Amino acid sequence: MFTTLTSQLILGPCSAESREQLFITAEALKDLPISYFRAGIWKPRTRPGHFEGYGQEALAWLLEVKKAYNLPVATEVASQQHMEAALDAGIDMVWIGARTTPNPFTIKCLANMTRGTSVAVYVKNPVNADVNLWLGALERFHAAGVKELAAIHRGFTSPQEKRLRNAPLWDIPLALKNQWPDLPILHDPSHIAGNKRWLPGLLAEAKRLPFNGLMLEVHPEPEKALTDPNQQVRPALCKRLIDNLTQNTACKASSLKHLAHLRQQIDSLDSLLLKTLQDRFERVARIGELKQTTNMQVYQPDRWHELREHRKDLSGKFHLSEAFVLALFECIHQESVTQQSNLHPEL
Ligand code: PEP
Ligand code: MN
Repeated sequence: MFTTLTSQLILGPCSAESREQLFITAEALKDLPISYFRAGIWKPRTRPGHFEGYGQEALAWLLEVKKAYNLPVATEVASQQHMEAALDAGIDMVWIGARTTPNPFTIKCLANMTRGTSVAVYVKNPVNADVNLWLGALERFHAAGVKELAAIHRGFTSPQEKRLRNAPLWDIPLALKNQWPDLPILHDPSHIAGNKRWLPGLLAEAKRLPFNGLMLEVHPEPEKALTDPNQQVRPALCKRLIDNLTQNTACKASSLKHLAHLRQQIDSLDSLLLKTLQDRFERVARIGELKQTTNMQVYQPDRWHELREHRKDLSGKFHLSEAFVLALFECIHQESVTQQSNLHPEL
């Protein structure tokens, strides 16, 4: 099975902490097919008094990386001033953070600024589990003419979620996909996990879903990171995680033949099942005619009781659940009664 989770890779540190840190990370990742090298330069912090990013100074480092490695670069923008600076600098992609997406005023203002530019815009889901807020933000950028627009699933604040930093609530990105099938949706397990130990499990789940790429936070020395130290991974681990996704994919490719074969068998068995039902309903019709000529009632409770008990016994013999077998025969019996009643419209 081909996973689309690795179709687009956005990799890089949570925050740009120094020119050197960006260069070490980019160098370590240079063999991977990166779509965008990411680094936050204006950091949205929940509480004041923490590292808030190096701003304009870090923008210059990011541009140096772009030039040195010929890598498209991306950063988060949350205000008019950030967007202006990013557009002036020629940043290739800006992402809208989970705390900005829920504000339609800010989104409208940022969307207006993208008009007539070639900047790509990736919109993270809002912190709250509201697919319409996410959709609304995306629609505003779409209406402003953004050509490369995508969504990023980074999980949702949830008091019920104790293990992960944010609850994945997979149904929400799936609902967005249903509403807007052509829109690429990337998965950001770093901000869902909050701790790198949960990344493999999240990736295993995400690869079964129709994601179109991955955003992963990578830092040369995560334990010294100024933001999100627990969830960032070293470049070597990042490569292993990505390799695992593609290896499993290759492994699945060999199972694909087997799957197709089994499905063919299912198709033939289903045909046989329907042929058997056709034969059965042919007998049902003959019985119906007999009932008509002998003036017997179509529905005969004793027969139905006997049939039910007998089929219940058969369920064990064929290793099928009793509930399933009874439901199946209720359905078949109902259809038999309907067909026989149609022969006897007056009954
Ligand atoms: C980030 O990607 O660094 C970030 C702050 O993301 P989010 O908006 O998902 O919290
Ligand atoms: Mn982060």
